[in-house]
Amino acid sequence: MLRDTDAMDDCIFCRIAKGEIPSRKVYEDSEILGFQDINPQSPVHFMLIPKRHIASLAEVKSEDAGMLGRMLALTGRLASEQGSPDGYRTIINTGRIGHQDVMHLHIHIIGGPQPLGRMLPKATG
Ligand code: 5GP
Ligand code: ZN
Repeated sequence: MLRDTDAMDDCIFCRIAKGEIPSRKVYEDSEILGFQDINPQSPVHFMLIPKRHIASLAEVKSEDAGMLGRMLALTGRLASEQGSPDGYRTIINTGRIGHQDVMHLHIHIIGGPQPLGRMLPKATG
């Protein structure tokens, strides 16, 4: 039986994790893959994903906490290596409200030489 934590054939990030779709890798270990975003929003924009399919942050279980912590702990070194040594922004879009487009948990790491804009557009009205 296919569980939501198994590799999913139709999930684009599972296919990237399996090497079926090419990506520009920035990091890899047995559990985690880092790769450049195909449509960067800033001079530095890459993502970290668990290789195992987890649909979103909302699906994370307590047993995933170690892996999630390791993902976050990698961000500083990788951001520096990628050209954002003086800070960066991490974003995890979750579900419909969070405007998540790819339903495989991913952490965006966004930065570059210049400060980023506001975190969210200022609310109107
Ligand atoms: P979300 O809106 O789900 O947080 O972000 C999904 C991100 O995945 C987007 O920034 C988009 O550019 C990126 N993306 C979508 N498809 C691909 C792909 O095939 N390869 C890579 N490297 N990034 C992708
Ligand atoms: Zn997946």
